[in-house]
Amino acid sequence: MNRRNFLSCAVLTPLFAQELMADSDDIYLSKEEWELLVSVNSRLKRVKRHVGFANFNLLSFTDTLFYARNYYRIGAFSKKELDLIDRLFGEDQNQYGFYGKKTCNNINNKISRKEVEKIPYTGHYLFKGKAQEDYESLKKDVGNTLILTSGVRNVVKQLSLYVNKIYNCRGNITKASKSIAPPAYSYHTISDFDVGRKGWGYKNFTADFASTYEFNKMIKLDYIGMRYNMNNSDGVRFEPWHVEVI
Ligand SMILES: [Zn+2]
Repeated sequence: MNRRNFLSCAVLTPLFAQELMADSDDIYLSKEEWELLVSVNSRLKRVKRHVGFANFNLLSFTDTLFYARNYYRIGAFSKKELDLIDRLFGEDQNQYGFYGKKTCNNINNKISRKEVEKIPYTGHYLFKGKAQEDYESLKKDVGNTLILTSGVRNVVKQLSLYVNKIYNCRGNITKASKSIAPPAYSYHTISDFDVGRKGWGYKNFTADFASTYEFNKMIKLDYIGMRYNMNNSDGVRFEPWHVEVI
């Protein structure tokens, strides 16, 4: 069975079926790559559990490898797992219909704690300077029902979100790339952040957020830009929650 069709033959639960809606030319992981991805996904979750949710946002790849090697509950990454990670980080994304700009060339990218500010009660960080200023102005102009739902994400955090998305898309990389930027392409690594409405949980990451008071107040503010509007040229879905920091 070839690489494209292997997982499309898998039995789909309704949850996956809805997420999938695959096109016939979508690209899937091979069976071997799928097994490696499952293993990388759970290893990264063990790293997150070990360092904690907030620290995981900043953790470098070098430190991730250190923890994996030295803590038996995580376990070292195998050579084949590392090859897959290298590929997911370095490969050309145009083949998957993702046309965004690369934001990070170094898989070992370090984010110093001096560059960022921890935002209380969120488990997230913002870059000091423009991002933090924009967020503080937003809180003032929109109100306290506006919350930070994701801030600074270093390569490993972005990798873990991407890997988990491919997992939820049953190996369909094309589909995954439309809803989460690949690890070298996230603006969360250099500037941007996500906001939501207090108490809205997962719905903050759906198009429904565009119907909230918070969104409608926010887009009228002249210092706020949206990174991923409808039909954006990057090939990313509409993300009303994602604030562009310039
Ligand atoms: Zn975002």
